[in-house]
Amino acid sequence: MSFADLGLSDELLRAVGDTGYTEPTPIQASAIPPVLMMRDIIGIAQTGTGKTASFVLPMIDILAHGRSRARMPRSLILEPTRELAAQVAENFETYGKYHKLSMALLIGGVQMGDQVKALEKGVDVLIATPGRLMDLFGRGKILLTGCSMLVIDEADRMLDMGFIPDIEEICTKLPAQRQTLLFSATMPAPIKKLADRFLNNPKTIEVARPASTNINITQWVVPVKGPSFEKRKALRALLGQEEVRTAIIFCNRKTTVRELNKSLREHGFSSGEIHGDMDQPARVAELERFKKGDVNILVASDVAARGLDVKGVSHVFNYDAPWHPDDYVHRIGRTGRGGATGVAYTFVGPDDVENIDNIEKLTGQKIARVADVPEAPAEEAPRRERSGRRRERVADASPRTEPRAEAPQVDAVRDEAPRRERTRRDRDERPRGGRERERERAPVVAEASDDGGWNGPVPDFLNVGLRY
Ligand code: AMP
Repeated sequence: MSFADLGLSDELLRAVGDTGYTEPTPIQASAIPPVLMMRDIIGIAQTGTGKTASFVLPMIDILAHGRSRARMPRSLILEPTRELAAQVAENFETYGKYHKLSMALLIGGVQMGDQVKALEKGVDVLIATPGRLMDLFGRGKILLTGCSMLVIDEADRMLDMGFIPDIEEICTKLPAQRQTLLFSATMPAPIKKLADRFLNNPKTIEVARPASTNINITQWVVPVKGPSFEKRKALRALLGQEEVRTAIIFCNRKTTVRELNKSLREHGFSSGEIHGDMDQPARVAELERFKKGDVNILVASDVAARGLDVKGVSHVFNYDAPWHPDDYVHRIGRTGRGGATGVAYTFVGPDDVENIDNIEKLTGQKIARVADVPEAPAEEAPRRERSGRRRERVADASPRTEPRAEAPQVDAVRDEAPRRERTRRDRDERPRGGRERERERAPVVAEASDDGGWNGPVPDFLNVGLRY
């Protein structure tokens, strides 16, 4: 099947052609025709499947006719995070380049003035995070009565972040006569309820089993016995592999993101960080540095990294196994995008055993264990001695299944986005002095022995931008 078979306009086909994409992905092939026929849609698809274009493309053609009015957007796309909202906006720019549609982005963390100005002129497409939209709505700056098209994207993530009451309220402000598209990687009960209440005779399209992982991603578990500095050693060794061109490293805590990035930089890696404590301009700047290749490693927390669409991420590392098994699917979905292949490593120390168990239960897959856990050399040479010596491949290519260790108690402190609607899992994860204990577990002496240079040769990507 080609894009031309989907009923899209010539201008749109030209814009798609410019991107180099020749064939629609399954979600695009299944969703675009019914959306063009004005059907409501439930799209069960994870990120990485091309789902953004599956609603952006038909929306552009639908909105091509008609005019916007002041403060009355014609369509609304709700996204859980600013980064994801910005990415959808980029999609509109890419595919809408031969159309004259106006767009506004309404996201927290940036000055409201320009957003309000754009809205006052009238926009065809409003892309918003629920919090900022409710804020502006409350101030009477925006009317949703002209909004004939609504997209609720990443609905399960909205649920996780406590946005469902906001979304319900927003839905009641839109005209009843509208087209609604809802996308979600999974369909938990509250999302089904939301769909039942606000969608009209929707067509359900499912392109991948909920929580199934992308077959283009090779997954490994890296068992680590000891405390965090052992994880760091193993991580540095894996990052030294030739094939690691670009990597996103996920951590469960913001403090870990900061500490790990600092440690990697001290070891001469070209890394940056993105987490929920950073303001929006700082996050965007850091993301740009990664996209431009100024840094090739991005250390990230879940919420900040949600939906990041950075092309060609060769590797994903889960420095911590995520507490929520569906986050695993989202995290590793940063690689292996658009048909490319990718590799995901998940470090499993004593605190991660229960999490990896839950992940394997959810995905129905046993993840191969790296047989010989890689180690960066214990005696590390001063950085200036690093030279072009090639590093031995450290990860054993032949996976071996390890017997399961007994699951220890998880000390989980989720220090990410606000959650008004806490799930049972969250309640189960109430902090039990975890942060304090984390400090205890990472004694100064361990950190000190973790310091120093890299004893192996310099990976290719470090030949540029090394800081001494
Ligand atoms: P998404 O699931 O929307 O986040 O998209 C995942 C990635 O697939 C993005 O990098 C898109 O640019 C890319 N993509 C979207 N549509 C196609 C297509 N038809 N063929 C190849 N890649 C695509």
